[in-house]
Order: sequence, then structure tokens, then C-alpha cells
Amino acid sequence: MDLLNTLVEKGLRRELPTREEALAVLATSDDDLLEVVAAAGKVRRQWFGRRVKLNYLVNLKSGLCPEDCSYCSQRLGSTADILKYTWLKPDEASKAAAAGVAGGAKRVCLVASGRGPTDRDVDRVSQTIEAIKEQNEGVEVCACLGLLSEGQAERLRAAGADAYNHNLNTSEGTYGDITTTHTYADRVDTVRQAQSAGLSACSGLIAGMGESDADLVDVVFSLRALDPDSVPVNFLIPFEGTPLAKEWNLTPQRCLRILAMTRFVCPDVEVRLAGGREVHLRSMQPLALHLVNSIFLGDYLTSEGQEGRADLEMIADAGFEVEGADTTTLPEHRAGGGCGPCGESAPAADDALGPEGRTVAAGTASGADPASASRTDLVAVRRRGAGTDLAPNA
Ligand code: SF4
Repeated sequence: MDLLNTLVEKGLRRELPTREEALAVLATSDDDLLEVVAAAGKVRRQWFGRRVKLNYLVNLKSGLCPEDCSYCSQRLGSTADILKYTWLKPDEASKAAAAGVAGGAKRVCLVASGRGPTDRDVDRVSQTIEAIKEQNEGVEVCACLGLLSEGQAERLRAAGADAYNHNLNTSEGTYGDITTTHTYADRVDTVRQAQSAGLSACSGLIAGMGESDADLVDVVFSLRALDPDSVPVNFLIPFEGTPLAKEWNLTPQRCLRILAMTRFVCPDVEVRLAGGREVHLRSMQPLALHLVNSIFLGDYLTSEGQEGRADLEMIADAGFEVEGADTTTLPEHRAGGGCGPCGESAPAADDALGPEGRTVAAGTASGADPASASRTDLVAVRRRGAGTDLAPNA
């Protein structure tokens, strides 16, 4: 397929595809799926070999958030039956982190619900980072605390944080449909603050919230322009008790096309398969390893993932290897502080040509996937690990 040959060549050169090409990946048919995965897999292997980086989430503070992000089980007004607790103590967080590191994680992601941290919260998290670093030599720590105020990124960096996560989540055009209590621009600003403070930026998206193909391409192109080092791709977990509980519109095939498109647009960054992989990819998860070079081990913030042991078995069975602590994740040209975004942004197009020359209207869900059946049976609220007396899943 000419489209895929072009995209592989561009990916190997770190050249930005056009929006039309990115849209065309999303519009490929299920018959072409393995070719799409194989093509994006070539780009993945060029920059990351067969390595899979493991990341481990520690939810420092769960639920009771005053913000109204529609996708989130911790949002204002959520009736999802999730764990709710206030700040973990540094030693509790460190214990949870140690379980992830023992399971093979090289990065620990410290997450707290809320609009953003107070200066006192930054103190708390700084102590937690110090405790984790002291007890787990060489571990990378990423903080995810919401919108940052001036000077907070610098303080987290000084405390030893390596990275900061703040996702763009969806396109600028639809951001107001999913959240009203803060703006897309607020999110971009926080990612930039983290970068300015010397933190490695992690920023990604959530697919499956009813967005169009054009929205997905928009947010992935925006991420490319923002140039984070890691891009987590979440698939919406439609929690009962949240406004998006009925948004079951992803199939495993569509998830794979979204991951492939992300890899083609962001060829040399850490593309991480994040929340929702078990729920939406299900038995197709191993194919996604050909596209992403990073996953979360074990459980998520408020939901349970598959057993950590099953994650490790899946990686080995699919012929990949867990990335060791002594290996630098990013390719050499990025590891030394990043090279800035490569290539030029293509102009926005109202209509784009699909792979067989058919017209794909931007602004529609052109993947034409039938709606995925609701799989509420696969959404398990987290009942173990941080904030409970039960051992974490790692
Ligand atoms: S995503 Fe973060 S800010 Fe938004 S509701 Fe959830 S915890 Fe609050």
C-alpha cells in the first residue's frame, strides 16, 4: 500500500506525515489491519527495538476532585464507586512504588486528583519523591498533579522528579465539550512549564469519548508540536456514574489504528499504551506491542488492570523484552534534551483522501467501525494497592 510505504519512510526519517495521511490510517479497513500494524511496527523497532518500558501508577490522592472532566471517575459529581482517600504518606507511597519497581517498572507515576497542587502539596510530593528515590535506586519519577502554578515545576525538579505528566486528552476544538472547569490552553501551559523547568514532558490523549477522526488527528498533531518525550494513549474506560458511561464506541481494531497513527505522527517518542487497554483491546493487546514501546504495569488509578504477571508473560510471549533500568528509553538524538519537533505542520484539510482514494470527511468518525459492544463486565474498580490494606498488583 503506497500510503504505508510513505508513512514508514517518513517515520524512519522522523518526518511529519500530512494530516491526510494520518486520517487515512484511521480510515483503513480491517482487511488491511495487519499491514498497518506491520508498517508502524517498523517505525517502532527503528527507534525502540523490541523493548517495552514498564511504568507503575501510584494514586497519591483519590477521588473528590472539584474539576468536571467528563471521562474521569474522580470528577465532581461522579457516583462511581471508586476508592476515595486523601494524600498517602511518603512511606506509604514509597511502599507502593517499590512493588512496581520489583515487578519491573523503571518509572513510577505519582498521581493526585485535583485541579492542581498547593505549595503545601508540592512539599508533600517532594518528600514522597525523595523517599522513593532513596529506596529505589535509579527509578524515574513522574509527577501528575494537575495544573501547575509558577515555580512549582522547578520545585518538583529540585526534589528529584524526572518528568511531569499532563495530558491534552482531546482536540482543542472539542475540549470544552468534555471539561468546563479549565481550558485546553491551561493544559498546554502546564506542559510548557514542565518543559521549561527541565522536566521530561509526558502528555497524551484519551480516545473513545465520541470524538471524530479529525479530532484524534488534531490532538496527536498538537502533541507532536508540543514535543513531549512520552505520549500516553488512553482508551476511555466508561465508568458507571460518569457522563461518558455509555460511550462504548471502540473496537480492538480501531484502537490499533489509533496507536498506529500516533506512532507514525510521533515516531521517536515513547508512545505508551495506557488506561483501557484490557477493556478495549482485550485479546488483541499483544499486537499493540508492535506499535507502542511502553505500557503501565498492573493497575490504574481507579480501575484494576490485568495481573502484573500476565503483563510480563504477554510481553515475553509476543517476543518483546522489558526495558532494563540501565537502558535509555529515548533514541540518542532525543535523550540529550530533545531535538525539538521535526518537520512542518501540514495545513488543516476539510476533506482528506482515504487509502483507496475515497473521500473521508473530516469531522466524522470515518473509521466506520461498528460500535463496540458495551463491556461493563471488564471494568473493575480498583480495590487493592494504594489506599487499601491489600497488596498492590505489580
Ligand atoms: S482528570 Fe484530574 S482534574 Fe479532571 S476530574 Fe479527574 S482528577 Fe480531577
